[in-house]
Amino acid sequence: MTHPEIVLAPGREKSLLRRHPWVFSGAIAFVSNGVRTGEVCRVLSADGKFLAWASFSPKSQIAARAWSFDETESIDAAFFRERIAAGAALREKLGLAGADSGCRLIFSESDGLPGVVADRYGKFVALQILSAGAEFFRTEIVDALMRLPGIEGVYERSDVSIRRYENLPSRSGVAAGATPPDEIVIRENGMLFSVDPVHGQKTGFYFDLRDVRRKVKELAAGKRVLNVFCYTGGFAVAALAGGAESLLNVDSSRPALQRARRNLELNAFQDKPCELRAADAFGELDRLRDAGEKFDLVILDPPKLVDSKSHLLRGCRAYSMLARRGFELLSDGGILLNLSCSGLMTAELFQKITADAALEAGCAASIVGAVRQSADHPVALAVPETFYLKGLISVKRGSNTAMPDRLR
Ligand code: SAH
Repeated sequence: MTHPEIVLAPGREKSLLRRHPWVFSGAIAFVSNGVRTGEVCRVLSADGKFLAWASFSPKSQIAARAWSFDETESIDAAFFRERIAAGAALREKLGLAGADSGCRLIFSESDGLPGVVADRYGKFVALQILSAGAEFFRTEIVDALMRLPGIEGVYERSDVSIRRYENLPSRSGVAAGATPPDEIVIRENGMLFSVDPVHGQKTGFYFDLRDVRRKVKELAAGKRVLNVFCYTGGFAVAALAGGAESLLNVDSSRPALQRARRNLELNAFQDKPCELRAADAFGELDRLRDAGEKFDLVILDPPKLVDSKSHLLRGCRAYSMLARRGFELLSDGGILLNLSCSGLMTAELFQKITADAALEAGCAASIVGAVRQSADHPVALAVPETFYLKGLISVKRGSNTAMPDRLR
């Protein structure tokens, strides 16, 4: 079978040679006539050398995403079965694949499957298809997931806004097998979590925070905790499991807070001093500060606040405001755990923003730890964009009484 071709402009082959799978539209000199959206093309350098097999996405800035750099490989049902089985095998090796546990099985470029995200909840998989190429092979991908041992159903949650960059419509519903129930209970490090993969945010649960939950459990003993952007209470359960004295949790989503209540019950924490407050986080942080409230551990885990380069400055301001309020609300010796899941926010910039926030809050602080996305969200060394979740653990070490006024 002859494949259509994408030929790059001179000098534009470097990133593919470094095994980075994205081809930007500006790098392309020629595309064969009549290529269908998502179809696999041979990508060639300007001097005609084979570089990769990639799916074409004419409407996206990332006009092609490579599936393979091996000329002898065919991109077919067997290819998807192999890559998906390899993703599942890695999670098994990491000890994350128990029958009643959950994890991310496939994390897009990190697992050699650009545009494919699959989370496992017990016997069910929640699937997101995020690129034209993945959409083209949807049947093969769903079939490969259904073949994994112990999987009874695949539920699609391709109802996310980023699909519009690929000109794909929103879609959700059963893709194969059984319909998942409204509640799947998964086990993680001795804690139980109720997940609704059909209605929950994204695919229902944030597995990327697994290691952060472990850290919160370690840090929380005897502390008054403020948990902002609490979603379904993952950090609340972790803090109570770690012996927190009290908790105030804030989120604007009432369904998320209802599920958080359920998670407290599942772990027999319903009688603990743990408030779930429905409020806008920014307004609530202002109110708490004005009321002179103090906490010993403040957790700030906002949604992605930088979604494009043009919004970087606005996002930085929001992260900075959050961290400032966090420091202001801490008792002396208290701990701030602030997170960013924006890929465009580098670890270095996030540290600078946190440092400025401490200055503006009029306090001295030291970083005593850092957190990042957990192991089922691997960072492909060839694709630095796959590193996105970062967080800092800072200790407040008293007030700077001699702060210059302009920073106050
Ligand atoms: N920390 C959570 C995940 C946070 S996801 C966990 O442990 O699982 C981000 C959360 O922020 C979502 O639950 C969303 O409802 C909430 N959110 C988004 N904007 C908000 C706002 N302005 N005020 C309060 N909550 C907000």
